[in-house]
Amino acid sequence: MRDYLIRVLPKKFNFRVFGVFLPETVEEARRRQNLSPIATAALGRALAGVALLSADLKFGKILLQINGGGPLGEILAEADYQGNLRGLVKNPQVHLPPENKKLPVGKAVGNQGYLNVIRDYGLKEIYQSSSNLLSGEIAEDLAYYLTTSEQIPSACALGVLVNTDGSVLTAGGFLIQKLPEAKEEEITYLEKILTELKPITEYLSTGLKIEEVLEKIFKDIEILERRDVRFKCTCSLERVEEALIALGGEELEEMLKEGKPVEVTCEFCKERYLISIEKIKELIEERERRKNV
Ligand SMILES: [Zn+2]
Repeated sequence: MRDYLIRVLPKKFNFRVFGVFLPETVEEARRRQNLSPIATAALGRALAGVALLSADLKFGKILLQINGGGPLGEILAEADYQGNLRGLVKNPQVHLPPENKKLPVGKAVGNQGYLNVIRDYGLKEIYQSSSNLLSGEIAEDLAYYLTTSEQIPSACALGVLVNTDGSVLTAGGFLIQKLPEAKEEEITYLEKILTELKPITEYLSTGLKIEEVLEKIFKDIEILERRDVRFKCTCSLERVEEALIALGGEELEEMLKEGKPVEVTCEFCKERYLISIEKIKELIEERERRKNV
């Protein structure tokens, strides 16, 4: 089954609702970056979160940056308007034992820090906004960010279940946002049902679809839009070359002096790029040419 993102209309409620199912995306990130179970859970939640934020993007991309001061270090997760997702964890090999049979994601992420959202619509300006972390559990932090920083009262659930061999069993989440028209009784109902809801992975791991979980909450729903999502990095040889040019002339001359090809590894997907000495010479010339334009 493919990973996907949905935008849902709850027919009797004034909420904006999004759902995501992405076990293959999280598994691909785990495999490429050799993530520990706790790193898999944390990055998987961040990927699910940023995917939900990207659900109504028509162009551009969104970057979610989480830094809670915990052992995992910084977490980055990015989604573009076409459903391409990528992400990384600064310290992918952190191991923390389960507590009450659950991976202590909040402890691994930490709660002494911030959650930052960068919206890049491919225009001149990028929009950046942040809030403090509450728990480091990510879903709660993202809901708090949306409620305080973007002033849209939101509820969010994100979950990743990891097999004993470390691979991903299931991953997904939902985001519910209040529309201005929402009535008090709708909010009261939602708050009540969300406290009664089990962790999202308990539903997904039994084969229930994310839309069926949302149906449990809202009874009568309509799927307005469905978009496939996948782990896909935006790196390329051209981008690596551009990054090298941007490093500056001195650095390039230094590489040339070293006299051997330069290996660049993409931090997101671990793809390796080998840049030959001849190519470095070309990049230096290209840099000079641009300076003289
Ligand atoms: Zn890459």
